[in-house]
Amino acid sequence: MIDEGTFGTPFACVEADTVSVLEGRGAPLIVCANEPPWSSVRSALGSVTLAAEIEAWNMDVAHLAATVDQLRTTVPVELLAESTVVGLGGGTALDTAKYVAWSTGRPLVQVPSITSVDAGFTDAIGVRDAGRVRYIGTVIPEVVVLDLALVRSAPPRLNRAGVGDVLSCHTGLFDWRMASDRGLGHPWHAGLAALGVRLLDELEAAADDICAVSDDGVRFLADAYRRIGAACAWAGHSRFEEGSEHFWAYAFEHATGAHPVHGEIIAFAVCAMAHVQGNDPEGTRRIVERSKVRAHPDDLGVTEDDFRSCLLGLRDFARSTDLDVSVVDLIDVTPAQVDAAWTFVSTLPRY
Ligand SMILES: [Zn+2]
Repeated sequence: MIDEGTFGTPFACVEADTVSVLEGRGAPLIVCANEPPWSSVRSALGSVTLAAEIEAWNMDVAHLAATVDQLRTTVPVELLAESTVVGLGGGTALDTAKYVAWSTGRPLVQVPSITSVDAGFTDAIGVRDAGRVRYIGTVIPEVVVLDLALVRSAPPRLNRAGVGDVLSCHTGLFDWRMASDRGLGHPWHAGLAALGVRLLDELEAAADDICAVSDDGVRFLADAYRRIGAACAWAGHSRFEEGSEHFWAYAFEHATGAHPVHGEIIAFAVCAMAHVQGNDPEGTRRIVERSKVRAHPDDLGVTEDDFRSCLLGLRDFARSTDLDVSVVDLIDVTPAQVDAAWTFVSTLPRY
């Protein structure tokens, strides 16, 4: 048994109605949101002062810096000094809100409207710099609001995509074990590894609820993200849940400029890298089939050429961006392995 309390306290997370929480703040709000769902939430808000409304779409660091500069010139100093920053939406909204809260020193309330990414529950602020993901600091939200009705009103596939950032423990753990066995990178930690294994077991048990986007399915994903976020913040790294599958996805996004739904491209990449690792790829297929998360390359716009070049070039990409050591550093991935992995992912179900 592991005591997850070792990894510190996860962010405070309350099941609540978004409008009640925002009205209850009694503070001016700087809202960083996606559309949908912002306008429907906005129309339900009563007497709340909106100091600023920022449409979140671009995580480029220059764009974010310009956004904060504009905030400082358009929002009166007294208003800014009392404001609460709210992230409302998917990954871009939550990450933009982190950046704005970090830059202004104002408290942060996160309202994930879909369970497709863990951004609401991690303290690291990820931005894009010259097309690559870079982490520039950390910020802890005062509270994360889990609004089940809001989340369940999103298209089901965006919630099923939440599978990706939990399933990534499957390949992330394998990479971490391989690297740490050779004395490379962060040393192995049995407790973190046990958390990853436990999350994978629980994911399998929750797969039908996730597929149905039931209250329990949404709760499972939000709770999994909280636990992952707390453990990553405690460890100072995310090796138990992030490895070659994320790295391949970063390389793909860098090479193509595409921005697929994060959890879907990660689910695809877990299946592909599990095959390269020789690490129970059929187990990853089973989760995809039961949860009905989209992971087929044709559904995600991944061509065989892009898959091949990103995988064969992944070692160079990972070294040039200083990513953790993974399977692609430790074995020479052959064209035959790439072919076999492509054949495998091409037989995943389509949704
Ligand atoms: Zn992720």
